[in-house]
Amino acid sequence: MAYELAPLPYSFTALEPYIDARTVEIHHDKHHATYVANFNNAVKDKPEIEGKSLDDLLRDLPAVPEAYRTPIRNNGGGVWNHNFYWKVLGPNSGGKPSGPLAAAIDATFGSFEAFQEKFQTAGATRFGSGWAWLIVKADRSLAIVSTPNQDSPIMTGITDVPGTPILVVDVWEHAYYLLYQNRRPDYLKAWWNVVNWPVVEELYAAAVK
Ligand code: MN
Repeated sequence: MAYELAPLPYSFTALEPYIDARTVEIHHDKHHATYVANFNNAVKDKPEIEGKSLDDLLRDLPAVPEAYRTPIRNNGGGVWNHNFYWKVLGPNSGGKPSGPLAAAIDATFGSFEAFQEKFQTAGATRFGSGWAWLIVKADRSLAIVSTPNQDSPIMTGITDVPGTPILVVDVWEHAYYLLYQNRRPDYLKAWWNVVNWPVVEELYAAAVK
């Protein structure tokens, strides 16, 4: 059974003016779709991993035979990370979190503004392509981490920053180049306006339960 591209949960224009419609369209319909196609190719005719879900595979990559682990890591990661990126964004969003997540951010980073600055720095200083994440670690504390390429904090045994993701920003050039060109920090600053905090708050509640 082939894995299918998850539909974008809103229209291409939904994240305007912070992320332009053309970028969203190409990002979802071309980049994300290509990860799905390549992931399906990577798992095809591999009896050792038959029946395992995308989540199962990524959470235990060392169990995937080394001969084809890398394409599953890269393309499966590409699928999972983009599904998650679209999920934590949305129209009419931005502002600040509330409730237990807001309290945890204040307690961990000092203030929401200090958290934003640290998160933006994680994204801006990720050399080359990758992602910046807010995660809940095994001890239920919050941490800001970044991963290269299509790696993710769910890749236990592979990543050096394991945890449960609750927020992510894509810092691959394809996520911002049409509107921001080389100005990744400008994209990171504008991106806060499309963060869907109610979703992030739910993810946090589930992660610390
Ligand atoms: Mn991307």
